[in-house]
Amino acid sequence: MPTTTVAEITIDPVPAFRDNYLWLLSYAGRAAIVDPGDAAPVFAALAARSLTLEAILVTHHHADHTGGVAELARATGAAIFTPAGESIATGGAPARALCEGDAIEVLGQRLQVLDVPGHTAGHIAYCAPALRALFCGDTLFAGGCGRLFEGTPAQMLASLRKLATLPGDTRIYCAHEYTLSNLRFALAVEPDNLHLQQRSERCSQLRARQVPTVPSTLAEERETNPFLRVTEAPVRRAAEQRTPGAAASDESVFAVLRAWKNVF
Ligand SMILES: [Zn+2]
Ligand SMILES: [Zn+2]
Repeated sequence: MPTTTVAEITIDPVPAFRDNYLWLLSYAGRAAIVDPGDAAPVFAALAARSLTLEAILVTHHHADHTGGVAELARATGAAIFTPAGESIATGGAPARALCEGDAIEVLGQRLQVLDVPGHTAGHIAYCAPALRALFCGDTLFAGGCGRLFEGTPAQMLASLRKLATLPGDTRIYCAHEYTLSNLRFALAVEPDNLHLQQRSERCSQLRARQVPTVPSTLAEERETNPFLRVTEAPVRRAAEQRTPGAAASDESVFAVLRAWKNVF
């Protein structure tokens, strides 16, 4: 049994479609992929790095996160991990269904499973405490959060709060490059947030060079992501101004922010 150290695990984004990141974990020639919406760029990344795919991890059922699962599994025989509450097309390959409290071992690393409903009803996230890494699909984004397709604002707020309890140096490997759009909205909510102004400037410079803004850290999100800041006075004031009465509860602040972002 090889011993692994944190430093030897590599995590790379595999860009797909317009703005998806499929996260490729690798160690000693072995690999795992998170949310492979498309098989082709994953096959290319595996070949370029001479990696053998051992595991496929899925956070939720949307096609841009699952479209490549069956083909990758067929070609590599990799183990498939899926959310217990959702049906994922695997092309007939067996999958292990996961929910909160489950833990799996991938590339010698222990990953803990968290239920984070809201974007979809059965959405899960994978947390690797030793790597200080969180793979959260379309739940928490850099500077924002996923749309509520299947869940309620209260569910999504609870999911985000669960993620927000992780250590501040946890890196947030979300599934899309939505950061600049999210930060534009965040600045509309909190124009005077200095951390947010600085982050926006930094991310604009990265995107001008086409460098990913992901991963961020949870500490950064707590300081700048309005959806993690519903108890902060400036955020509550902005929600109240947008919809009078919004500041009555954390849930209604969150609901107003999410609805506002949908039309921003
Ligand atoms: Zn999605
Ligand atoms: Zn997505």
